[in-house]
Amino acid sequence: MWNISCVLLCALVAATRFKPAHVLEFCQVADPHCHSGEVEASGSQSTAHAFRSRWNTSAADLLRDLDHFRLSSKKLQGAFPIDEVDSNFIRTVNDCIFSKSTPTPMKGPLRLAAVSKDVLDWILDLDVAVTQTDDFSQYASGGVLFPGSVPLAHRYGGHQFGYWAGQLGDGRAHSLGQFTNRRGETWELQLKGSGKTPYSRSGDGRAVIRSSVREFLCSEAMHFLGIPTSRAASLIVSEEPVLRDQFYNGNVNTERGAVVLRLAKSWFRIGSLEILSRNGEIDLLRKLLDFVIEEHFPSIGSDDPDKYLFFYGTVVNETAHLIARWMSVGFAHGVCNTDNFSLLSITIDYGPFGFMESYNPNFIPNTSDDEGRYRIGAQASVGLFNLEKLLQALHPLLSPQQQQGAQTILKGYNDVYQMRIQQLFRAKLGLVSEEEEEGEEDAYLIGFLLKMMEDSRSDFTMTFRQLSEASAKQLLNGDFTQMWALDDLSSHKLFTDWLSMYLLRLSRHQNDSDLDRQHRMKNVNPRYVLRNWMAESAIRKAEMNDFSEVTLLHHVLSSPFVTQETAEEAGYAATPPLWAKRLKVSCSS
Ligand code: AMP
Ligand code: MG
Repeated sequence: MWNISCVLLCALVAATRFKPAHVLEFCQVADPHCHSGEVEASGSQSTAHAFRSRWNTSAADLLRDLDHFRLSSKKLQGAFPIDEVDSNFIRTVNDCIFSKSTPTPMKGPLRLAAVSKDVLDWILDLDVAVTQTDDFSQYASGGVLFPGSVPLAHRYGGHQFGYWAGQLGDGRAHSLGQFTNRRGETWELQLKGSGKTPYSRSGDGRAVIRSSVREFLCSEAMHFLGIPTSRAASLIVSEEPVLRDQFYNGNVNTERGAVVLRLAKSWFRIGSLEILSRNGEIDLLRKLLDFVIEEHFPSIGSDDPDKYLFFYGTVVNETAHLIARWMSVGFAHGVCNTDNFSLLSITIDYGPFGFMESYNPNFIPNTSDDEGRYRIGAQASVGLFNLEKLLQALHPLLSPQQQQGAQTILKGYNDVYQMRIQQLFRAKLGLVSEEEEEGEEDAYLIGFLLKMMEDSRSDFTMTFRQLSEASAKQLLNGDFTQMWALDDLSSHKLFTDWLSMYLLRLSRHQNDSDLDRQHRMKNVNPRYVLRNWMAESAIRKAEMNDFSEVTLLHHVLSSPFVTQETAEEAGYAATPPLWAKRLKVSCSS
C-alpha cells in the first residue's frame, strides 16, 4: 500500500536510483570538475582542463570535416508509425508521433551569429573551425541536410494557460536526427525557425533574431549555472523578412529570420503523451512511453509491472528539483504550458523568460501573461498542475491501485520541492550541517531574508552574491558602499537583527573559516545572469549585424560564478540601467 512516507522515500530514492541519464552529466556545484570554478579566470582554465582529461579526449580527435559528420533518424523513425501524408501542408494529424517535413531554406546571405564551442567539442565531437565554412551555415539553418538526416516534425498537444489547446506540435522546428558521440551519449538535433510543418497552424514557421538570440544565450547560460536544459550549438541569422506584431497591438514590423541549432537528449514533452491519451490512441501512448523509459530511464526495468508508476515518480521528483533550481537563480520560464515541460525534466522552449532582478514573488516575465499565471512565485504550483495533467495522460495505462499510488506520489511533490528549495537556499547562504533543529532555524533565516529582500526590493542575484563576497567583518561593520544590493537590503529596519542571527548561525560551523564560507557561496551564487537588459542590448546590435555583444555575453555567462574584467566593464554586475525598467518581453517570437 502506498502512503506518504513510502512515496517520499520513493522520491528520494528516485533521485539516485531512477535518475535519468541526463541528470548525471549536469555540472553539480560541489563537483570540483564543475564549470563553476574558482573566482579567478585562470582557475576556470585549469578546471576545463581537468574536465577534459576526465574524458580522455583531445582537440586533435575532433572532426574537422563536416563530410564525415553523420546523423541518424533511424531510431525515431523506426520506433513509431510516421504520418502517412507526406506533404508539408497544415493539417490535423492522427495516429503518429512524427510527420516528415523538410526545412525551408532561409533567404539571403546567412551569417553565423554565435556558436557554442562547448557544444561542438563536448557533444558533437566537432572542431569549432568547421563552423566557419559556408557548409556549416547551410546545415545549421536547414538549407542542406546533414548526411543521414530525415527531418521530422513532432506531433504533440498541450494545456496552454490552464486549458486544453488540442494539437500543437513542432510548428517551426525540425528534428534532424540523432547523434551518438564518442562518450556514447545520444543527442537529438533540432532546428528552430526552419520553416512550416503540418503543425504550423497560422504561423509562418520562422523565428526572429531577438527570440533566437535569447534562446541561444539562455540555454547555454542555464547549462553553466548547472541547471538541466536543452543546449544550443549555433545561431544563424538571415536576410529573410519575417512579420511580427511584437506586442500584439497592431504594430506589425518586419524583422529578420534566424535559426537556432539546438540539442536535447529528448524533446518529448508532457504534451507528447497528452495528445495520444486524449485522442484514445492508447497503443501509441504505450509505445511512446515504453520508448522514453527504455531510452532515458535506464534504471526502470522494461518488464517491471510498475514501470509506468516509477516513471511517473521520477518525473514528479525531477520536475520538483528542476523548478527548485529555477527558483534558486531567480529564473521564470514565462510559459509553463504542458507542451513546454519536458519528460526528462530539463528546461526547454525558451520564450518570454526572465531572471528576476528586484526580489518579487509576483515577477511576471511575459507581458502577455495578464493574469500572472506563470509569475515566478507560482512556478511550483504550476509544476503540480502540469504533473496532474501528465497523470491524466497516463491514466489508461495504470491499474486502479497504481493510480492510487500515483496520486500519493503527487501528494509528495510539494514536500520534495520544499526539501530541495531548503537545500539550495541553505547552500546559497553557505550553511552546512544538518541538525534537525537547525533545519527549522535555517528555514526561518531564509524566509526572513527573502521577506526583507521583497520589502527593500533588493536585487536577487547580487544580494546573494554580495553576501558571498563580503567577509563576516565587512558584514558586521555594515560598510556596503561597494555593494549596491547589500546597501539596498541594509536599509531594512530588521537587517541588523537578521545579520546577528545569520552570523551566530555561521559561527556554529566547526572547522569552517570565513574564507571557506565565502568560497562555498561564490560557487553557488552567480555574479552574472542573463538579465533582460543585457539580452536586449546584445539583440539591438545583432539586428545591425554586430554580434560582438552576443559573443561577449555567451563568454561571460559560460563562467557565471567567476568575476570577469570584461563583464565588470560592461556593467553586468552593476545596478541595472534605468531603461531596463521599461523593457517588455512577449510571446511573439
Ligand atoms: P511556444 O509558445 O513557442 O511553445 O509555441 C506554441 C506552439 O505554437 C507550438 O506548437 C509552436 O510550434 C507553435 N508556433 C509558435 N510560433 C510559431 C510560428 N512562428 N510558426 C508556426 N508555429 C509556431
Ligand atoms: Mg513550445
